[in-house]
Amino acid sequence: MKFTSWGNYPKNLNSCYILSKDELPILNLPFLPYGKGRSYGDVCLTRHGCYILTSNKNFILDLDPQNLLLRVEAGVTLKTILELITKHNLFLPVVPGTQHVTVGGAIANDIHGKSHHLHGSFGNNVLSLKLTTSSGTKELCENSQEFRATIGGLGLTGLIQEAVIKLIRIPGTTISQINKVTLTVEETVSVLEELSSSYTYTVSWLDLLSQKFRAIVMGGNFTDSNTGYKKTEKPALSYPFFFKIINNVTLKILNEIYFLLNQRKHTEFLVDYKKFFFPLDIIDNWNRAYGIDGFIQWQSVLPKDAKLLKECIGIIKKSECVPCLCVLKDFGSIQPKGLLSFPQAGYTLAVDFPVSYDTFKLVEELNKFVADAHGKIYLAKDALLKKKEFLKMYPEVNDFVKYKDRNFCSDLWRRLVE
Ligand SMILES: Cc1cc2nc3c(=O)[nH]c(=O)nc-3n(C[C@H](O)[C@H](O)[C@H](O)COP(=O)(O)OP(=O)(O)OC[C@H]3O[C@@H](n4cnc5c(N)ncnc54)[C@H](O)[C@@H]3O)c2cc1C
Repeated sequence: MKFTSWGNYPKNLNSCYILSKDELPILNLPFLPYGKGRSYGDVCLTRHGCYILTSNKNFILDLDPQNLLLRVEAGVTLKTILELITKHNLFLPVVPGTQHVTVGGAIANDIHGKSHHLHGSFGNNVLSLKLTTSSGTKELCENSQEFRATIGGLGLTGLIQEAVIKLIRIPGTTISQINKVTLTVEETVSVLEELSSSYTYTVSWLDLLSQKFRAIVMGGNFTDSNTGYKKTEKPALSYPFFFKIINNVTLKILNEIYFLLNQRKHTEFLVDYKKFFFPLDIIDNWNRAYGIDGFIQWQSVLPKDAKLLKECIGIIKKSECVPCLCVLKDFGSIQPKGLLSFPQAGYTLAVDFPVSYDTFKLVEELNKFVADAHGKIYLAKDALLKKKEFLKMYPEVNDFVKYKDRNFCSDLWRRLVE
């Protein structure tokens, strides 16, 4: 079996694994839990040691619609959960840009979605956990420090077996969406914040390849209305080979098409929740379009200052690199529970770059910029951050090490800490 991360960088040849068990076997090797490998860098990879696959622990154990509570095994995917709970007009408070992630992975990276200003990150909605460590299996409740270390704990405090998650009620599974075109960075953040006051979900797509900056800011709310809307569910297509089609020219064409299709929708329109939250899931393995060398997704959070964001975008635009999918979100002020959680109040920018020497140089410059600006790099997407910058961005790591299991390790931890 091959273990990869979504960016296909860095490469990893270790194929040693066991299936998830209630107790850890006695092996003289470090462990690393592995969900669906939807992280981009080396957080889900280990050159030495043994992966623990969680795909055999994928049961929904209990759903209590009355009290909005869900108990699941950690290997269950968000897709499986949503298929069940939407039938009860319930939803997960936080979903990322793909539904193909496990609950264990969502907790270990304390993932965020489009509703951070209202719901915080995934861990903010987890009430308790069952964790297997080298010293046995235990229940962790919200106020324990070990719970805080495990939320956003990068799979290093032990194997999450189960979680109890708080759900939200929704009127129906359709989203009422609005799109607004913006032409400057200042206007984009101001519209993003304005929409946050009336929409549960907000996000912005940026075109950093066009000569002049342009963006589409989107807002969405669940609605029970279905007027004039016909649900069509198409099976996902698949990108079959590692064949690189992403370059400056193809990207400019794709951006132009995306902009033209979305710019005209000024008034609210209806879309299915899957299309709104998981647009990329319509093509399986789309990551192969970056070719065999893979790509880096660089994601940072910067303090709420449009000037800083503009400067950061300026660094990207003046480089030789091709900024592919660029997404900007607004993080509200809800504090995450995890010691190593990524979210903090600010603007979070995510950009894909094909792997190249120029990309490495650019990411180095961007990481330094973010560290100096008191921002952070998202570890779920990282492959290039340096130890000194990591310590500046994540000072709570000194507390976290007390809860790291000595028998768990990842390549990210070796790179940033050991
Ligand atoms: C198209 C796409 C869109 C995305 N959009 C977003 C987004 O909007 N917001 C966001 O925050 N992230 C986003 N991501 C990143 C993704 O949500 C995270 O990387 C997520 O953690 C991946 O989950 P996974 O199950 O694949 O875990 P993996 O990638 O396999 O593992 C991630 C980490 O979780 C640990 N882990 C997994 N299972 C367990 C367990 N049972 N116990 C303990 N540790 C465990 C692993 O050791 C590893 O450290 C996106 C990824 C993709 C591919």
